[in-house]
Amino acid sequence: MDGLFIIFSRQIILGFVRDLQIRRQGGFTSFSALPDRYKELLLSAKEAIENGYNPYTKTKVGAAILAANGKVVSAANVTNKAKWNSICAERAAIVKANSEGMRRFIAIAVIGRKKHDGQTQKRYIFTPCGPCRQFIYEFTKPSRRDIDVIMSDMRMNNILVMKISELLPMAYD
Ligand SMILES: [Zn+2]
Repeated sequence: MDGLFIIFSRQIILGFVRDLQIRRQGGFTSFSALPDRYKELLLSAKEAIENGYNPYTKTKVGAAILAANGKVVSAANVTNKAKWNSICAERAAIVKANSEGMRRFIAIAVIGRKKHDGQTQKRYIFTPCGPCRQFIYEFTKPSRRDIDVIMSDMRMNNILVMKISELLPMAYD
């Protein structure tokens, strides 16, 4: 019981520290303050959540990428019984866009639904995982620009916009 309590407390503290880190980095904005094309991008990402394949997790994530040609490509996460085989929504969107001949990007939006104790964490902001950050960073080369990453909670009240170079300083290059 003590061990469980320690693990639970650790999760709360880590979550709090993470929130503080996000808030310190600033860059928070509201949905109405986003440029129109970023609003559309975020809405596409949110819509994609429902297409996720998530039989093993309560975490559902959608992503949408804005290509330089103006097209928006969205995708959801695809989980797998073997966890390491799961594919994040961000990478799924990039792979899908690349397969359709697009590899110059302007921005990517990510939004998700996370459940804890059966409750949907509506204020949780999904940030791309490490491999996804490196994957997005890779496409700054053909894009010849830094890529904006738009991260939002489900209510779209707390939206964070950061460059991939900020999210992944000293990227593997
Ligand atoms: Zn990821």
